[in-house]
Amino acid sequence: MNYFKFDEKLEKYSTEAESKAKTSFERIDGITEYNQTKVLNCFIKNRVSEMHLGTSTGYGYGDVGRDTLDQVFADCMGAEDAIVRHSFASGTHTLTVALFGILRPSDKVLVLTGRPYDTIIGVFGFEGHTDGSLADFGVEYHQVDLLPDGTPDINAIRAELSWGNYKMAYIQRSRGYSLRPSLTIDKIEELCKTVKEVSPNTVIMVDNCYGEFVETREPTEVGADIIAGSLIKNAGGGIAPTGGYIAGKREYVEMCAGRMTAPGVGREVGASLGHNRELYMGLFAAPHVTGEALKTAVFASALLEILGYKVSPTVEEKRGDIIQSVILNTPEALIAFCRGMQSGAPVDSFVRPEPSDMPGYDDQVIMAAGAFTLGSSIELSADAPLRAPYAAWMQGGLNFHSAKTGVLLAVQSMINGGALKI
Ligand SMILES: *Cc1c(COP(=O)(O)O)cnc(C)c1O
Repeated sequence: MNYFKFDEKLEKYSTEAESKAKTSFERIDGITEYNQTKVLNCFIKNRVSEMHLGTSTGYGYGDVGRDTLDQVFADCMGAEDAIVRHSFASGTHTLTVALFGILRPSDKVLVLTGRPYDTIIGVFGFEGHTDGSLADFGVEYHQVDLLPDGTPDINAIRAELSWGNYKMAYIQRSRGYSLRPSLTIDKIEELCKTVKEVSPNTVIMVDNCYGEFVETREPTEVGADIIAGSLIKNAGGGIAPTGGYIAGKREYVEMCAGRMTAPGVGREVGASLGHNRELYMGLFAAPHVTGEALKTAVFASALLEILGYKVSPTVEEKRGDIIQSVILNTPEALIAFCRGMQSGAPVDSFVRPEPSDMPGYDDQVIMAAGAFTLGSSIELSADAPLRAPYAAWMQGGLNFHSAKTGVLLAVQSMINGGALKI
């Protein structure tokens, strides 16, 4: 049992944290069981078979594995249709295909959830830039800021939509790397109802990154027309080696497919190159793995709160994504936390993370990640910009027991470095 050495007091706090998390764990288990049976049912209903796990090359015409996966995925999201491809290079690429698939020059987009995720800002773009962004193509960007408590401003959204003639309303489910709360499905449902009430022809798109299988319903089940996300987060179950998905109303998925490859060709081409099996397995594992990541987040929230840190979300708070932020107050604590977490990774445990400059960031950034898939954030990882209040955003954990060890090592490292006294 003593493979890792923890301070005795820390062991005691760890036990306390687990009992504090008990109710949340039970809730997570309930959601996992529901989603796992939902996914299993979709596999059975679509008669997934050995032949679907095969491969195709070249144009990939008639790849039944790929085409059936699209339908299985659509069913899992409660959507009419989906495209799931290893050839989406990232979540940002997938969201970009969806945005460019649906929007046309002089269309207006209204973002309902404040400033979007960093990489998406560049996709919307800025007027006058000739970089191929949506702005460069004449798509107009508008945004409704969040209220001071970090929730959507329904009244302002209603007012803006009532006169704005918007082609698209855009919602980001996850908090991303901000301190606002993630959106619950109930909140997304309320937003969708508001949009359809005031402006029935506006297409509702949801950035579903980090949100898949966190609750029992997906945005496409509560009024969203189109959603997109990454396969190296929740929906790939830690098994998909790369890729993304788009799901929603058939008419919009088809528009996205035309943009994904070429107009008129769409989803008919695209060799699966042997990835079908991993994408099926990943989807099958996704509800369980998302549950493990959620438990890891809840455990970290409980433990760090016991140790006196401000955490968001708190143990009992309802979650709409797998991200946990912990405010560590000093750069020393933050660096020690990331180094400790890295030391508990199954891959690259011996690497010592250093804060460094990153393109697109004003402050230095430190990251802990020792993953089987490069950049995978369904695997235990933490990132943090070196600026007050020295918050770390952590997420993932393929299985709770090893990820819990990672969290304990992060805390032990703060103790060892003198940044935390217990
Ligand atoms: C991860 C993420 C994205 C896409 O990021 P990639 O790093 O390109 O996969 C977009 N939006 C949100 C909210 C995300 O969490």
